[in-house]
Amino acid sequence: MKTFNYHTPKDVKEASNLASTSSAFLAGGMTTIPSLKLGLATYKDIIDIKSIKKLSGIKVSGKSVTIGATTKHAEVAASKEVQKAIPALAKLAGNIGDAQVRNRGTIGGSISNNDPSACYPSACMALNAVIHTNSRKIPAEKFFTGMFETALKKGELVEAVEFQVPEKADYQKHPNPASRYAIIGVFVAKHKKEVNVAVTGAKSCVYIDKDLSKKLSSSFSSSAIEGMKVDDSEMNSDMHASSEYRANLVSLYAKKAVEAC
Ligand SMILES: Cc1cc2nc3c(=O)[nH]c(=O)nc-3n(C[C@H](O)[C@H](O)[C@H](O)COP(=O)(O)OP(=O)(O)OC[C@H]3O[C@@H](n4cnc5c(N)ncnc54)[C@H](O)[C@@H]3O)c2cc1C
Repeated sequence: MKTFNYHTPKDVKEASNLASTSSAFLAGGMTTIPSLKLGLATYKDIIDIKSIKKLSGIKVSGKSVTIGATTKHAEVAASKEVQKAIPALAKLAGNIGDAQVRNRGTIGGSISNNDPSACYPSACMALNAVIHTNSRKIPAEKFFTGMFETALKKGELVEAVEFQVPEKADYQKHPNPASRYAIIGVFVAKHKKEVNVAVTGAKSCVYIDKDLSKKLSSSFSSSAIEGMKVDDSEMNSDMHASSEYRANLVSLYAKKAVEAC
């Protein structure tokens, strides 16, 4: 591992000011530390944001659930308030990786990293989330811009993620048996006026399946999407699953999610 400067800023402003093109924020370190150790990334400055109090915690109101950026997956999974307001979100967090990952990994790190197989981005898209940063509020559909790419600018920090409480929701994941990342993950959320079906693991970036969403918006039942064919032309194909297989799983898991709602 190459050497780097290690910083422990006292607040968000100081953390943001320390950022450069050769720095990384350290939340749980679940991506950053292995990347450094394996030589996949090198940074001049590591900016540890774990002890900035403002970035951690969960707030639930009637209409929204707001989760601070450094809140760990295990905390979201165990939160009685999240379990009550959006049980699908607590379930998603409780099925990320293994116990070690859930006790270190954070929601801010997950969405900022935007791994194409990560679970939280699909919840953000389906639950009309708004990403609060230190300088603006970004709707989820504008936040996730490509593979490992987001709308975040240099020095911009995610402070919290605000999820809209749906009428019903469920998340179904076909996990990679080794890492538990999603080979396919489908998050279905039924809101008052629309249904969103967000898919992760299938393409280079999380997306809303417009056809499934439209069908379910007019009739929220698994029979409405029974046997619906999903286009596989832009889907990932690798040693774990072909694009055809992934497309079939999207349709199947959307149906499973509706049935579990
Ligand atoms: C073995 C293993 C299995 C996993 N399985 C799953 C899984 O099943 N599902 C899933 O969704 N994920 C999974 N993950 C990912 C994991 O849950 C973490 O969310 C992810 O690795 C990011 O880690 P972290 O939160 O510790 O962030 P870090 O590693 O500390 O940071 C990651 C990146 O995000 C940036 N960053 C961190 N916080 C902020 C912030 N507040 N604002 C702006 N930028 C920020 C950093 O600069 C860095 O570039 C797995 C990871 C591992 C190692």
